[in-house]
Amino acid sequence: MTSRKNKTIGVTVLGAGLAGTEAVYQLIRRQIPVRLVEMRPKHSTGAHTSDQFAELVCSNSIGSNLPDRASGLLKEELRLLGSYIIDVAYKYRVPAGNALAVDRGAFAREITRYLKGHTLIDFVNDEATEIPDDGLVIVATGPLTSPALLQSIKKRLGTAHLEFFDAIAPLVSTESINMKVAFKADRYGEGEKGDYINCPMNKEQYLAFVDALVKAERIELSKLEKDERKKYFNACQPVEIIAESGVDSLRFGPMKPVGLTDPNTGKRPYAVVQLRQDNLLASLYNLVGFQTNLKHAEQKRVFRMIPGLEKAEFFRLGQMHRNSYINAPKLLTPTLQLKKDSRIMFAGQLCGVEGYTESAATGLVAGMNAVRMLQGKEPVVFPPETMIGSLLHYITFDGHKEFHPMNANFGIFKGEAGLKGDLRKEQIIKAARRTFREFCDSL
Ligand SMILES: Cc1cc2nc3c(=O)[nH]c(=O)nc-3n(C[C@H](O)[C@H](O)[C@H](O)COP(=O)(O)OP(=O)(O)OC[C@H]3O[C@@H](n4cnc5c(N)ncnc54)[C@H](O)[C@@H]3O)c2cc1C
Repeated sequence: MTSRKNKTIGVTVLGAGLAGTEAVYQLIRRQIPVRLVEMRPKHSTGAHTSDQFAELVCSNSIGSNLPDRASGLLKEELRLLGSYIIDVAYKYRVPAGNALAVDRGAFAREITRYLKGHTLIDFVNDEATEIPDDGLVIVATGPLTSPALLQSIKKRLGTAHLEFFDAIAPLVSTESINMKVAFKADRYGEGEKGDYINCPMNKEQYLAFVDALVKAERIELSKLEKDERKKYFNACQPVEIIAESGVDSLRFGPMKPVGLTDPNTGKRPYAVVQLRQDNLLASLYNLVGFQTNLKHAEQKRVFRMIPGLEKAEFFRLGQMHRNSYINAPKLLTPTLQLKKDSRIMFAGQLCGVEGYTESAATGLVAGMNAVRMLQGKEPVVFPPETMIGSLLHYITFDGHKEFHPMNANFGIFKGEAGLKGDLRKEQIIKAARRTFREFCDSL
């Protein structure tokens, strides 16, 4: 590995994804020099398509923006802690109802431009094949960590890493969508402006579509891939797998028509495919919930059966990918340090969280704790009553029967005994806000 600058490095960060860039920012804003190692574009992950930092590999949505949703609460905490990723996301926000969705190109370009040129960052464009033996290290190489590094992590930790499989959704050009058939609207008129493009289906069209989807040719998976995919929960189930689980599954899942009226018929459609704006120019839209592992030619054939997408021009087709993470409950403390070598921290998807915001959150915690260690202070443990704290406690709690990656949700909070439903949620949010304020004051 070669470095272009020669300075005293405080921390080495491996991977310039959502977690790595957030960690780096937290360090440089406190004037700590960092070495940042990123392998793209020299070595590809297979899913990333650019040479930019913080590339969003699939959806351009960073999750709900509503204050009473877990993802909204997580963003609130991150903003209070000065999260760089969340700040840039708001800067490049595109219309998406109550979700925070971004122009992925502008978002990644801004982060890359700022960090690559920063005087406190020694950027190394190469594959890390081992965790460095000296200094503080934050390993944030993500779900698609290169095989050589995964192998050496496995050797160092003396335990198998875990894997499951995820899929990504296709992107189409806006001008290729037939707006005589498709219509702009948000469910229940929530966004008022009509942020989503909706492709409506009647019963006959829906049944024909589901039939074609289930029968379409898929990219062959190895036995390991099949077993792993079955075994582990993930938020990105391929659309054909959802369809297979029952003829109405899509109509009650990503294709649910509730809260929508087709202006051409004045009625609620039988099913709907929703498309969300993908860039600020609004030249690209993604098919929401349409992660897929169909063969590319089959995707074009089947997805063009969707009313309004008969002539769709596909800018990216869906694909399926490995998703790796370590056995955090056995290996990490809630400060994200390795139990057997506290100078090494793990952040991002590799540490067992699931999702863009969750990955950025763990990057922020690892960055913050690296700063504290360099200042001679104890790394902080976030209170489990907060959103970030509940996530960290969940992934590092050594009592899971089987550990699966976790996203932000209210189910992982303890909550007050006896409370259920909305009351439980309200109590959790109230306690989280109060505890978080006290926690910030104590830092
Ligand atoms: C196919 C797929 C689809 C997904 N879709 C979604 C989605 O729609 N919504 C969502 O919230 N989450 C999604 N995820 C999860 C998503 O990847 C994470 O939420 C997020 O990107 C993880 O952030 P990270 O920083 O941990 O990893 P990444 O953002 O992937 O960053 C890791 C970086 O490390 C680099 N790297 C890897 N190995 C090395 C090495 N040896 N040396 C140097 N650099 C290396 C990579 O090139 C990459 O830039 C998806 C994941 C996959 C695999």
